Amino acid sequence: MSSTLRFQVVGEAFKKKPVEIPNREERPSEYFAKYVFNRQKMFKYLPSKVYAKMCDVIDNGAKLDLATADAVAEGMKKWAMELGVTHCTHWFQPLTEGTAEKHDGFVEHDWKGGMVEEFTGKQLVQQEPDASSFPSGGIRSTFEARGYSAWDPASPVFVIGDTLHIPTVFISYTGEALDYKAPLKKALKAVDRAATAVCQYFYPDVTKVVSNLGWEQEYFLVDESLYAARPDLLMTGRTLMGHDSAKNQQMDDHYFGAIPKRVAMFMKDLEIQALELGIPCKTRHNEVAPNQFELAPIFEETNLAVDHNMLIMGLMKNIARKHGFRCLLHEKPFAGVNGSGKHNNWSLSTNTGVLLHGPGKTLLDNLRFITFIVETLMGVYRHNGLLKASIISATNAHRLGANEAPPAIISSFLGTQLNDLLEKLEESDDDELFNIVGKQALSLDIPQIPELLLDNTDRNRTSPFAFTGNRFEFRAVGSQANCAAAMIVLNTAVAEALSDFKVRVDALIEGGMDKMKAILKTVREDIKTCKPIHFDGNGYSDEWKREAAARGLDVESSAPIMLDQYLAPATKEMFAKMNVLTEAELHARNEIKLETYTKKIQIEARIFGDLCLNHIIPVATRYQSQLIENVFKVKATFPEEIAGKLNANNLKLIEQISENSAFITENVEKLTDARRVANKIESAREKAIAYHDTVAPLLESIRYHIDKLELIVDDELWPLPKYREMLFIR
Ligand code: ADP
Ligand code: MG
Repeated sequence: MSSTLRFQVVGEAFKKKPVEIPNREERPSEYFAKYVFNRQKMFKYLPSKVYAKMCDVIDNGAKLDLATADAVAEGMKKWAMELGVTHCTHWFQPLTEGTAEKHDGFVEHDWKGGMVEEFTGKQLVQQEPDASSFPSGGIRSTFEARGYSAWDPASPVFVIGDTLHIPTVFISYTGEALDYKAPLKKALKAVDRAATAVCQYFYPDVTKVVSNLGWEQEYFLVDESLYAARPDLLMTGRTLMGHDSAKNQQMDDHYFGAIPKRVAMFMKDLEIQALELGIPCKTRHNEVAPNQFELAPIFEETNLAVDHNMLIMGLMKNIARKHGFRCLLHEKPFAGVNGSGKHNNWSLSTNTGVLLHGPGKTLLDNLRFITFIVETLMGVYRHNGLLKASIISATNAHRLGANEAPPAIISSFLGTQLNDLLEKLEESDDDELFNIVGKQALSLDIPQIPELLLDNTDRNRTSPFAFTGNRFEFRAVGSQANCAAAMIVLNTAVAEALSDFKVRVDALIEGGMDKMKAILKTVREDIKTCKPIHFDGNGYSDEWKREAAARGLDVESSAPIMLDQYLAPATKEMFAKMNVLTEAELHARNEIKLETYTKKIQIEARIFGDLCLNHIIPVATRYQSQLIENVFKVKATFPEEIAGKLNANNLKLIEQISENSAFITENVEKLTDARRVANKIESAREKAIAYHDTVAPLLESIRYHIDKLELIVDDELWPLPKYREMLFIR
């Protein structure tokens, strides 16, 4: 692109007007879930017996028979056709980053030469999309390319445009999971089972424990015309070069600042469409970096929350385009300003209340609270490396470990009150504990747990897994990730910790120990065991890195090596015991993550090489020639002594440009060689390591020289929109 084109594009971007959204007459509560076949719609469109059966299927996991499925499909079709729907699709979450769908019309032959609209129970329940184009990590052999998608009745069916979307799991012919939803559902079942069993020590009438997830989605918006002028953004979702804008986030004036009108209209449009799809949007605000924003709904049951997050990411991208923006979900679209994450607020609740809430009114309440906190920490402690592996990616690696996001070491912040509580418990001896139990006192003989753990609202932003009053906030999840990857690990790890806890408590009870004493004794043991995961200090500091290593936490910083955790013995054992993922499935996931890692950096390196050789070097050379020409002209015009003085500065610049250009050219060649070498490596692991160790660092070192050139070369010649032009929507 010539500079004039760059100016044109920048000018266009600045002139764009907000796309006004017509005011709605109805309130959000009136159009909420308009396009969702939820219980209300089921009640209206299904015969009462079928409705009752569906409730049993959804609430208690009862089997769905074909007759019921047929009846449900009939009701769904009627509802959908009233909305003008003509197609249906199974909607699933393969191990790529997005969702997948394949639309089928409602049409069938009527065998009289015409067509009828048809949608059967069989179509609702199962489809056979060809799985050969989805990553399977070697699970699917080429001769058996079939994959099955099967309806997940726990996530309601919804309508987008003219298409009925049916959320499904996606599995191979041999039954292995090829997606995120299948293992997530198993993890949720495991945590339900384990947590319910432990709950019953305290409240025998609890029959179900639900895992909750409230995600906070961060994103960037960039003007569409500027985006189109940046091949790196287009191909990789991030800028691979670009000097810092003089002003970025140092004034702290963007966070919670007034939302620009163009953006406000986008947000409004997005929220309306999200609410219509049953996503309970609540919060919106500017984030720390310029052009960075956040949307958060009210938390929901984890399976549904994951679906809704996948949906919102799709909506964001689509609706942004209508407003002349591109939505960037990449974890680090711009160097030098904050990247984007997706905080995962997680908790467990029973049919009677939130389990991590600690308004300890009775001994039982207190002990229940402490048990669930400590066993959560046990799960996170035992599998801290795996938890990190679940959120690492080539893109999220830019964010972790930089001083703006959680560090690449998983630890948990608890706050002073909870900290004191656990310390006191840990220090008390058996006799003391026995006394407490013997007294059956209203509270434990430990600092009173306040109704609200207030100090936790003043949170430690550096902690990747912080307790925030009634939930834990897992902050290391990447902005474009499927939350399910992290939620599968977290819920399974907590399930394992709770089952293990129960086994030990039961053994003590069987040996004749009082139930409360047995629980306290076991909790006390675990407080000691999981102590290394607890860290309230500054997670960005170098001392912490050293200390964490001494504590035995996973401090690995290379993404491909972090992924080894998927194959660690403790991982295999946990997933097998909890019946969530088999060894074959773990191998597949590990391999897919490695391949994805490699491909991402490969694409970056390719487009980066292009940009260097076709955009940057030619422009630098052109500017250098202009300078050289000027030097000659000055020489011809002035006496030698004066010309020497006048030319001094330009000569310096000419040299500087030569140095930068030479570095770039030489190293782009090295980059190509490094890729060539890496590409020949067979093993997915070794290849990813090669990309990490030899290719990725070159991108950084070359970039430094490009960014220097950007400061030298005539602004008019510079081909790519600059940070200062992209980062401020007016
Ligand atoms: P902040 O940015 O201060 O962390 P937000 O209000 O942006 O908080 O988001 C908090 C998220 O946590 C919301 O999605 C909210 O619904 C969710 N949340 C609140 N309580 C719970 C809970 N008990 N379990 C899970 N998520 C919760
Ligand atoms: Mg938060």
